[in-house]
Amino acid sequence: MIKHSQKEMRKKLRRQATIIVSLGLIVVVVLIILAGMLIFRFVSDRVSSAQHNNFETTMAYSESSGQTNNPSLSNPSSDSEQTTVPVESSTISSSSVESSAPDPTDVTDGVLPTELQLPTIPSDIDGPDLTGYLVVIDPGHQMYPDSEQEPLSPTMSGSKDRVSSGTSGVSTKRPEYEVNLEIALLLKVYLEELGCEVYLTRTENDVNISNIERAEFALSYMPDAYLRLHCNGNMDSSVRGISVFVADFGKHKSNLCVWADALGQSISLATGSPYIGCNASSRYSGLNWATDIPSFLLEMGFMTNQQEDELLSDYSYQLKICSGIADFVSTMPKNTSR
Ligand SMILES: [Zn+2]
Repeated sequence: MIKHSQKEMRKKLRRQATIIVSLGLIVVVVLIILAGMLIFRFVSDRVSSAQHNNFETTMAYSESSGQTNNPSLSNPSSDSEQTTVPVESSTISSSSVESSAPDPTDVTDGVLPTELQLPTIPSDIDGPDLTGYLVVIDPGHQMYPDSEQEPLSPTMSGSKDRVSSGTSGVSTKRPEYEVNLEIALLLKVYLEELGCEVYLTRTENDVNISNIERAEFALSYMPDAYLRLHCNGNMDSSVRGISVFVADFGKHKSNLCVWADALGQSISLATGSPYIGCNASSRYSGLNWATDIPSFLLEMGFMTNQQEDELLSDYSYQLKICSGIADFVSTMPKNTSR
């Protein structure tokens, strides 16, 4: 009898042990599957991000070929407005154009919010007299991208994201939109100190202003220069330098790359960073809708290059960029339509 109950007990213990081991195995298998899914997701994110950047690099290159003024522009970058190329081929109707006109409540009226802390500049800055000049600055991108489409151009079919998120710093980890605004605010103070009238399309990062709305804002002031401030990115981390994008059509077509070269070379002289060229293109809605004024998309440096990334967030380097831009503005003809 005792022997029998011991046997039963052993059987029971074996069953319990089997259940525990089975449960343990199931937990281990589930953990392995979860870990596998996480690893797969991480790897696929990295791959798609790399492919995205590579795609933009390729596009910039193909668009620049034959259009650049500067043969040294051998490493055109992923760029700028950083959106996909137009995929829609619908003809732009007048109604679709009208619907993209800016809602005045979306766009800054050019008056800075009273709570905004403007940066300070050294009291002894030396620059040209910019009295009588008017410049509109567009700090590129914004905190949250908006993939809703807007017409690429008033003269061509195609559409583009309203606004994209931009690149980010390989070393500083800062988002491009933040650096663009930081330099734009410093530039505003800098140019105003020299007598220039300055308006910004945005003074905060958390806004939603499309590239066309920014262009319309600039047009409303008929500035001597519309400067769209951006930082660049490239798969090759050794690529560095300043470049300028302009529209390849419009009222100022014949002058745009001449002025762009003057802008790029002026900043290069002030900062020591190489100027890698002007790229005339029709892929930037923010330029295409502002061809009645001298409009420039300025890539101030590469955030994918460790040295330039760190410099772009450096106050004294930012002042050098401002100095180069101030010198450039002084060479621009004043807009007689104003
Ligand atoms: Zn950008």
